[in-house]
Amino acid sequence: KPVLGIESSCDETGVAVLRWEPDAPGRGLLAHALYSQVKLHANYGGVVPELASRDHVRKLLPLVREALTEAGLTPADLGGVAYTAGPGLVGALLVGASAARAMAWALGVPAIAVHHMEGHLLAPLLEDDPPKPPFVALLVSGGHSMLVEVKAIGQYHILGDTLDDAAGEAFDKTAKLMGLPYPGGPALAKLAEQGTSGAYRFSRPMTDRPGLDFSFSGLKTQVLLAWQKSDQSEQTRADIARGFEEAIVDTLVVKCRRALDAAGAERLVIAGGVGANRRLRAELAAAGERDGFRTYFPRLQFCTDNGAMIALAGAIRLAAGQQQDETVQVFPRWNLETLPPAA
Ligand code: ATP
Ligand code: MG
Ligand code: FE
Repeated sequence: KPVLGIESSCDETGVAVLRWEPDAPGRGLLAHALYSQVKLHANYGGVVPELASRDHVRKLLPLVREALTEAGLTPADLGGVAYTAGPGLVGALLVGASAARAMAWALGVPAIAVHHMEGHLLAPLLEDDPPKPPFVALLVSGGHSMLVEVKAIGQYHILGDTLDDAAGEAFDKTAKLMGLPYPGGPALAKLAEQGTSGAYRFSRPMTDRPGLDFSFSGLKTQVLLAWQKSDQSEQTRADIARGFEEAIVDTLVVKCRRALDAAGAERLVIAGGVGANRRLRAELAAAGERDGFRTYFPRLQFCTDNGAMIALAGAIRLAAGQQQDETVQVFPRWNLETLPPAA
C-alpha cells in the first residue's frame, strides 16, 4: 500500500504518494505536490520561523488532498504516513509531525519519522538506474554541507562537514551582499552564467591541506571586498558571481574526489539544493568521466525540499519494519549517524 510523505522542516510544504517498488523506487511515485513560501519571506530577506509554521498549517491539508486526487486514491488506500521529524525549525516540523501522526492514528496505519537529510540523500534513488550502496554522498543544502560514506541505506558515516557556513548559505549570503533579491542562491547562479570565467579568482578554502571538512564563510568576505572595490557594474557583478561559483564548485569537486578515495568508493551521489547548480553538476560529471567514478543526481525539483524524498525514505524504513510510536515528537537537531540501519 502506498505511503504518504509530508515535508515541512523549513519554508516548503511538500507532499507525495509513493508505492514501494524496491528495484525502481521512482516508478512507484504516484503524485507529488509542493508549495513554496518564498514570496512570504522575501520581504524579510530570510525565513521567519513563526510565519513559516502558520503557512504550513494553511497549506498542508489542501496539498494532501491535491496529491491524493492526483494519485487517484483516498486516505483509506494509504499504508503509512511518513513525515520529516528533523532537523529543521521546531514549529514548522511540529505542523507536519502532528498532522501526519493524527492521520496515521485515524487511519490505523503506521507513522514513520524521517530524517530530512536522509530524505535528501535518498532522492537520487527516484531516478532511473538508481545508485546502490556502497557510495559517497555529497549533501549540499541550505543548512548542511557534508560528505557521507554510505555503506548501506541507514548506515551513514560523516567524512566531512562544514566548519561554518553551508554551501547554500554561502550562495544566499553572498548574493545578498551584492544586492541580489531573496532567495539569492539561484539568482547568483543565474547571474554567474553571464560572467567571464577567470575575471575574478577567489580562494578554494581548505583544499591546500588534507581533510574533508569545508569552510565557506571566508569566501563571503573576499567577495564583499572585491565588490566594494569594483565599479559595481552589471558585468562586474556577473564576473564576481562567476568567480564565486567557480571557487565553490572547484572546492566541492576536490573534496568529492578525496572522499571517494578515502572510502574506496566508485559511486558519488549528489543531493540537496546546491545539487541543482548546473556548473556543479557538469563539473562533477566531467570529473567522474576522467577519474572513473559514476555520478548520480536527483532531478532539479527533487534537489531542494520536496515530499517525494520523504515518502521514499519513509517507505524504505516501513519496508524494514520501522515505525514511530504514538507520540508527536520532533528533533530540531539530529545527527544522521545515529539512525538505525534500514534493513
Ligand atoms: P537543509 O536541507 O540543510 O535543512 P534547506 O532545506 O533549506 O536546508 P534545500 O532546500 O535543500 O535547503 O536547498 C536550498 C538551498 O539551495 C538554498 O541555500 C539555495 O540558495 C540553494 N540553491 C538552490 N538552487 C541553487 C543553484 N542553482 N545554485 C546554487 N545554490 C542553489
Ligand atoms: Mg527552502
Ligand atoms: Fe532541505
